Amino acid sequence: MNSSYHWLDGQVSPQHPLSPLRRMHELSALGRLLTHYKPADLWELDTQRLPPPLAKLRRRCRDFAEQYMTPNIRILDEAAHTPPGTLHPAALQLLKAAGRAGLMSNLLPAPFGTATLAELKYPVAYRFAIQVEELSRVCAGQMLLLSAHHLGLAPLCLSGDPRALWTYYRPMAQDFSKGIVHLFAYAITEPSAGSDAEDGHGASTNQPRLRARRLKNGYVLNGRKCFISGGDVARHIAVFAALEDEGFDSWTCFMVNSGHPGFTACHTELKMGMRASSAAELHLSDCYVPETAIIGGLRQGWALNRATLNSSRYPVAAMAVGIARRACELTLEYCLHTRLAGKPLLAYQEFQLQLAQMLAETRAMRALIWQQASGSFQARQSEASMSKFFATDRAQAVCESGMELLAEHGASRTECLEKLLRDVRLTRIFEGTNQINRLSVIEDLQPLLFTAATAHHSFSI
Ligand SMILES: Cc1cc2nc3c(=O)[nH]c(=O)nc-3n(C[C@H](O)[C@H](O)[C@H](O)COP(=O)(O)OP(=O)(O)OC[C@H]3O[C@@H](n4cnc5c(N)ncnc54)[C@H](O)[C@@H]3O)c2cc1C
Repeated sequence: MNSSYHWLDGQVSPQHPLSPLRRMHELSALGRLLTHYKPADLWELDTQRLPPPLAKLRRRCRDFAEQYMTPNIRILDEAAHTPPGTLHPAALQLLKAAGRAGLMSNLLPAPFGTATLAELKYPVAYRFAIQVEELSRVCAGQMLLLSAHHLGLAPLCLSGDPRALWTYYRPMAQDFSKGIVHLFAYAITEPSAGSDAEDGHGASTNQPRLRARRLKNGYVLNGRKCFISGGDVARHIAVFAALEDEGFDSWTCFMVNSGHPGFTACHTELKMGMRASSAAELHLSDCYVPETAIIGGLRQGWALNRATLNSSRYPVAAMAVGIARRACELTLEYCLHTRLAGKPLLAYQEFQLQLAQMLAETRAMRALIWQQASGSFQARQSEASMSKFFATDRAQAVCESGMELLAEHGASRTECLEKLLRDVRLTRIFEGTNQINRLSVIEDLQPLLFTAATAHHSFSI
């Protein structure tokens, strides 16, 4: 900002007798302690309020993102669409670095993974909300590349089966620690069943198409999955299939090895945003899986999927917060450095008002997520879904406000705001559309809604 502007129009100057900066220093030592702070940046105060292990995790993720993700933002967003199964060299380097930094296996601690014992005092949804927000602030597309892997690991962790963890999770963590890329993915969506796979209403009338047929010591899978993040580059994919001649209630999670005959990643989508991560269509044609590859038990897939989404919707919400934070930062930077009639844009109250709204909305999203995730050792559907739809909807509104202030500069690729808008829109679709997440809130709270209604009115519904 020009040196003649040390304060903004409509705000009290630092020299004025009523300047808050001046007057707050005149308070007693206790008064200053209780009311004053000096955050290092806009968001640092939040870090200072976190318990030490989580503040450490947050700073570690921030440093990682700056070092390994910032250089790739444009490269991966603008890279040519590649055939299925191809990892861009920049993505490969990122995954290797994330593996060595312990960020690909920190759902669990040793002897399986890399979460520290100090971190385990906090729910995994909370830890991942913090991790994902920091990484998404730099690039949500690169974050999705990492998150899709964690999603693929979730059924293993939720199955609570040490044998499965030993067979799949531990070798993965060992490979990543040596810089070997060993990805997982999660496949529920089918061309004819996206929301139905998550919502009780559709599922009771629709039939899943991907089927498992019993053989002597295992099953053969036939059918298609679509829009599977990282499904073409993963070594193992948690594939949800119904048993032959049965419905969604027979859904079973099979850990499919992508190297096995009958498995093909035949196509990746050319999607609007998050282009650092692929969305693959998978074909399974008489693809054999041994019985030991069943995760969480036969016919337990429906519950396992619900449990997975109850945890994984928090990170999606956090992804949106990261994007919104970046939008605030870009907008602030632009409004400080761009002049209108000789003054920086931020000197105009209209801009101040809109920026304040963007900051408040971003804080509100995070407050909801942290408040709910921090108490969720047992993740609850209504809370996870509420966080997901609220944060992703509001994050898009924040990005749009930024766009309004930056005007044509926002539309330019050089400012990156248009990328945020393309990325944030997708968070409103995956892990259940926001409409489905709204229905999930009501589904979960239904008994309470009836109790609340009858407690106040003596009518029956
Ligand atoms: C970038 C990206 C990454 C993805 N990654 C994965 C992945 O890794 N693994 C995976 O399995 N899937 C993944 N998906 C798929 C995603 O989860 C689905 O797109 C999503 O669940 C919606 O399903 P659908 O696209 O089939 O929409 P549909 O189910 O066809 O829904 C169409 C519309 O109808 C509405 N609707 C549907 N049912 C109802 C209802 N009962 N009541 C009211 N409204 C309803 C929906 O809200 C939506 O607006 C990804 C998608 C994207 C965009």
